[in-house]
Formats: sequence, C-alpha cells, structure tokens
Amino acid sequence: MKPKKAKPEKQRVGQSSSGRKPAARSCGLCGKSGNLTKTYCCGNWICDDEDSYVLFSYARNSCHRNHSRYTLCASHYNEEHEGAWQECGECREMFETEMYVWYGTNEYNFARLENPPKYKPTKCAACKRVIRLAEDGYSIKGNNYYCLKCTNLEQSWLRG
Ligand SMILES: [Zn+2]
Ligand SMILES: [Zn+2]
Ligand SMILES: [Zn+2]
Ligand SMILES: [Zn+2]
Repeated sequence: MKPKKAKPEKQRVGQSSSGRKPAARSCGLCGKSGNLTKTYCCGNWICDDEDSYVLFSYARNSCHRNHSRYTLCASHYNEEHEGAWQECGECREMFETEMYVWYGTNEYNFARLENPPKYKPTKCAACKRVIRLAEDGYSIKGNNYYCLKCTNLEQSWLRG
C-alpha cells in the first residue's frame, strides 16, 4: 500500500490579491476583513463587531470587545497610565499576577507581553485543583479560591 498522500488543499481566497498592493485591511486578531474599526487604545484594525455580542452571554466572539475588555493594552489606556503598557508598573499592580499575565498574553492582544512574570497557579482551597482564573469559574471567600465544583457542592449543602 502506498501511503496516502494528503490532498493539497486548494485555498480559495475571495479577493484576488492582485500583485503587490499593500496588504488589505484586516482585523489584527482574527484576520477578517470587512467591517473594521480602529482600536481606540492602540490604533490597530479590528472587527467592528460589538453588535454581535449578546448581552450577558459572556461570549468571547467579538474581537473588539475582547480587546477592550481582556487586555492590558485597553485597560492601560482606560486608566490613563503613562508610557507603554508592557512597561507599566501601575498595570502590574492593578491585577494579580495570573490575570496580569493572561491579560498581557492572551489571543486578544496585537502585541504580547514578552517575559511575563512567573506566578504560582491558583488552587481550589477545598479540592486543590488548579483553577485557571481566566477560563474557569470560581468563587472567592476571604483569601481562598474555590473551583466551580466545590462552590456548587457547598451551595447545595447550604440549600439542603
Ligand atoms: Zn476580528
Ligand atoms: Zn489596544
Ligand atoms: Zn498601565
Ligand atoms: Zn475544588
């Protein structure tokens, strides 16, 4: 048997990129072109898609919203800090390290934090599972974090 050759994928690109024109405008995050706007914080092209966000859905499907909510770049701008956000001590103090690193390195950034500081993973005070603050649900009591599971367990005890 001959090894199957992977079919070369023919990529159909909608726009015929004619010659060596400067790259078409496209969203710096997802690469889509079309309905674009510039970010107020850093002036990059980004999907003008706040409308597609469903209120209280917490969906992360809006490039514009993601950048303006979940990045140091935007919060640095909103807080009117000085200089570059990558070097901003105020930003560093505004967030706990884990979130600071996430805000500075997640996929909603145009430029990512180089050399992000190290941090210890946050663990559930009850079951010791690692909680990724940016992704997982959790609750805080005093200085303790509880994963969603333990939070729900406790709530059902309280109820029952
Ligand atoms: Zn986009
Ligand atoms: Zn920005
Ligand atoms: Zn800042
Ligand atoms: Zn737990």
